[in-house]
Amino acid sequence: MSQQGYVATPPYSQSQPGIGLSAPHYGHYGDPSHTGSPPGMMKPAGPLGAAAPGGMLPQGHPPPGPHQFGQNGAHAQGPPLQRFPGPPPVNSAAPSYAPYSPSTRSSYPSPVSTSSVAQLGTQLSAMHVNSYGSGMAPPSQGPPGPPSSTAAFQGPPRSPQPSILQPGSQVLPPPPTALNGPGASPLPPSTHRQDGLPGPAPSNAQYQPPPLPGQTLGPGYPLQQAANYGPQMAGAQLSYPGGFPGGPAQMAGPPQPQKKLDPDSIPSPIQVIENDRATRGGQVYTTNTRGQIPPLVTTDCTIQDQGNASPRYIRCTTYCFPCTSDMAKQAQIPLAAIIKPFATIPSNETPLYLVNHGETGPVRCNRCKAYMCPFMQFIEGGRRYQCGFCSCVNDVPPFYFQHLDHIGRRLDHYEKPELSLGSYEYVATLDYCRKNKPPNPPAFIFMIDVSYSNIKNGLVKLICEELKTVLEKLPKEGQEETSSLRVGFITYNKVLHFFNVKSTLARPQMMVVTDVSEVFVPLLDGFLVSYQESQSVIHNLLDQIPEMFADSNENETVFAPVIRAGMEALKAADCPGKLFIFHSSLPTAEAPGKLKNRDDKKLINTDKEKILFQPQTNVYDPLAKDCVAHGCCVTLFLFPSQYVDVASLGLVPQLTGGTLYKYNNFQVHLDSQQFLNDLRNDIEKKIGFDAIMRVRTSTGFRATDFFGGIYMNNTTDVEMAAIDCDKAVTVEFKHDDKLSEDSGALIQCAVLYTTVSGQRRLRIHNLGLNCSSQLADLYKSCETDALINFFAKSAFKAVLHQPLKVIREILVNQTAHMLACYRKNCASPSAASQLILPDSMKVLPVYMNCLLKNCVLLSRPEISTDERAYQRQLVMTMGVADSQLFFYPQLRPIHTLDVKSTTLPAAIRCSETRLSEEGIFLLANGLNMFLWLGVSSPPELIQGIFNVPSFAHVNTDMTLLPELGNPYSQTLRMMMGIIQQKWPYSMKLTIVKQREQPEMVFRQFLVEDKGLYGGSSYVDFLCCVHKEICQLLN
Ligand SMILES: [Zn+2]
Repeated sequence: MSQQGYVATPPYSQSQPGIGLSAPHYGHYGDPSHTGSPPGMMKPAGPLGAAAPGGMLPQGHPPPGPHQFGQNGAHAQGPPLQRFPGPPPVNSAAPSYAPYSPSTRSSYPSPVSTSSVAQLGTQLSAMHVNSYGSGMAPPSQGPPGPPSSTAAFQGPPRSPQPSILQPGSQVLPPPPTALNGPGASPLPPSTHRQDGLPGPAPSNAQYQPPPLPGQTLGPGYPLQQAANYGPQMAGAQLSYPGGFPGGPAQMAGPPQPQKKLDPDSIPSPIQVIENDRATRGGQVYTTNTRGQIPPLVTTDCTIQDQGNASPRYIRCTTYCFPCTSDMAKQAQIPLAAIIKPFATIPSNETPLYLVNHGETGPVRCNRCKAYMCPFMQFIEGGRRYQCGFCSCVNDVPPFYFQHLDHIGRRLDHYEKPELSLGSYEYVATLDYCRKNKPPNPPAFIFMIDVSYSNIKNGLVKLICEELKTVLEKLPKEGQEETSSLRVGFITYNKVLHFFNVKSTLARPQMMVVTDVSEVFVPLLDGFLVSYQESQSVIHNLLDQIPEMFADSNENETVFAPVIRAGMEALKAADCPGKLFIFHSSLPTAEAPGKLKNRDDKKLINTDKEKILFQPQTNVYDPLAKDCVAHGCCVTLFLFPSQYVDVASLGLVPQLTGGTLYKYNNFQVHLDSQQFLNDLRNDIEKKIGFDAIMRVRTSTGFRATDFFGGIYMNNTTDVEMAAIDCDKAVTVEFKHDDKLSEDSGALIQCAVLYTTVSGQRRLRIHNLGLNCSSQLADLYKSCETDALINFFAKSAFKAVLHQPLKVIREILVNQTAHMLACYRKNCASPSAASQLILPDSMKVLPVYMNCLLKNCVLLSRPEISTDERAYQRQLVMTMGVADSQLFFYPQLRPIHTLDVKSTTLPAAIRCSETRLSEEGIFLLANGLNMFLWLGVSSPPELIQGIFNVPSFAHVNTDMTLLPELGNPYSQTLRMMMGIIQQKWPYSMKLTIVKQREQPEMVFRQFLVEDKGLYGGSSYVDFLCCVHKEICQLLN
């Protein structure tokens, strides 16, 4: 039974050109994997391609989409379309410089070997030593630079570089050891504490802080730290004479007086965000130019589609690709796109137009199967068009013919979304449906773990109560009065209970399935029903469930059979859908997918650490594959009170495009709100089912790797049981030939999916990038937020196969390579002791350091294995905005709140030095929210927010602020609402008092500081990267 469900061939029938199938003739790819398509669908495709449905005459003019399009389109000042000369010859040799293959090393003279890194580690500790000599740190100001600004610290003052960050006027000795050497190592005093100090040169090599020497949490909270608070500390000199063991064995040159690097003088993420906001915020960004760089993901603006997909749908690591693979190897900048095909569009932006060509279906290139889009060039009076992706010249199908105007553009250019817009949808024909018949509307199945503890703690009752209201809000398509989605209910412990909730029944009926090894669906009729029709039976059931199991003492649960039951039910009903599983414990009952507690901290920091991230049995991967094959998405709400093996339980949710929510030690009276918000949001969110995504590219490069909540049965088709508005797929590209500056690099992402009402559609996103043979152009066009998204996903994927140490080394090395290449080829000559950063990558080091310090990559026994597995999974599906916030949280002073304004107080840098004991600060990272109270917080604010007279009276157990009538309370809660609303997860609020033990948790989020559990400070990391760069340049 477990095998039968899976169909190895692509899920769409053999004979049609669905996007799911590799189309014939990917001549330009030259990749054997592309030949895997079923032979039945091959069409003759000579250079001219076979005429599309030859004899088919116009079925009348198909409606070109909503009427308003014409008007809307009119304002579009026709972007000059890029034209595409013939492609260069095909070359199948793809460059390989996969970031995580240890065997592939860049052409750069890279010191990747362990020994070199070991040396680095040694030098680092030497740097620490040297950083505490003298303490002169004149607060030099690094003006955030104009374009192509460079951030440099060290070395003589220079004028030519637009933006040079120099800690002081000291002239340093010449390279290469300048930074490594005594002259360098700037460190801000406040980021150092006793617990973070390096011991003797760490023997383990990678750039990662040494183990905490006897650090104790809690009571051991070192005294100095109290003194570290407050902005005033920025200038204070903490002197630890003799406190730094480990001699400068590696140092070249004599020790010299040191000075510290002023943290204000190194590139600030906040400054970069604010600058972009100031110059581009609130404006209209039109996508009419190929290769233009969008505003940062943190900048609010209005986006107008004029021929390229909105950055809400696609962001790239660079908007200018290098022309050759040699250049790409030299720069080592990943070429990647982060695609969020169902991204939420604000109400003031135009939703996607729907194009319906009736039975003919979309117009596609005969050779590469790309969909009609602004990159197709019409020729010969409009009778033919040349494909922008493969250059094939195609006949225009008769029904689609239109004359051209004097500049060669079709007269209906602005009337057809697919000719003038970057993004639009097509109604898919039966050819794009499973078994060539229209899909049934999807279903939601709610599956509740009714084991003893869940009943006891009130969770089951909470879920059942909530479902009664939230089911009123099932998603529906625009015009629908009620949702077409059907719903079903299952409860389980070590056996499964199916419920018949047919509308004609007086009360629900339960059917128990005890054979969990071979789950079958005991009823078809009455299991999946319309909520509207069966409302009273469903409410009856939801009222009864908590009582039904009130006397159960069953502690054991199954898990894989639950998923299989849901999947089989969807399969039997012949519809796609989503399972909402509410689960609490390690599934130890005898059944497939049974798990044991295998959490083993001894694996940490060994080559076997990766095992902790892998599922412990081989049941879940094939199960996920089955689910994807049947369009069954699994969303899991986990309520663990101990280890539950998230790496195993979370696999199916991840691979099926579902979401994993985790509520540790859930308590109904404290945590309900967070959970219920997540549940409501998840049920209501925009989602497409049974999806398959295909990314096509113009000649010369291609998509080689994919990261996200996806399953891939071959190298090109990205299969997703479902994809919702918060999920992004990151796609890496590699050259397989030269790219031309004229043609650019074009990307078309097509997602075939089923809507919530059961309509089959294609969603198309097109994006044109520039190409250049100048490295400077490449660097100018980079987007650091997208780079970090890519690095995070590729690293977190690699975690399953490679030692973390190797992954961290590769990240550090690649960072150094990218910056060294810029320095060598793009920056104007300057002293080697200067660190020069391209303007677009000014904050790459700080963000990279945040990634390196994330608990997934940090091997520390203090962090729970489940938490690491959880965060790993979350990041794999994040879009750029989510990953930016996740790695660099927002920290805002609340005590400066203006109660008369709705503007949020400006964010500040995530460092302890920015806190003050007179202040109250709010920190948010997309998962957690902290309200940090300084010991001397203004009593009137404390009173206003908490309704208690003083700091000491504040109860830190609360997870919601009290609703008080005063302006402080109202404004703060409104602000928290604004901060929350954009993010997919409901953030749990924790109240933290300065100098109390729970503050340790909060301080892990002060990501510019040295981590409590290891992880360097930003300044230290910058020094490390600089040193690596110096080595590379020599
Ligand atoms: Zn083509």
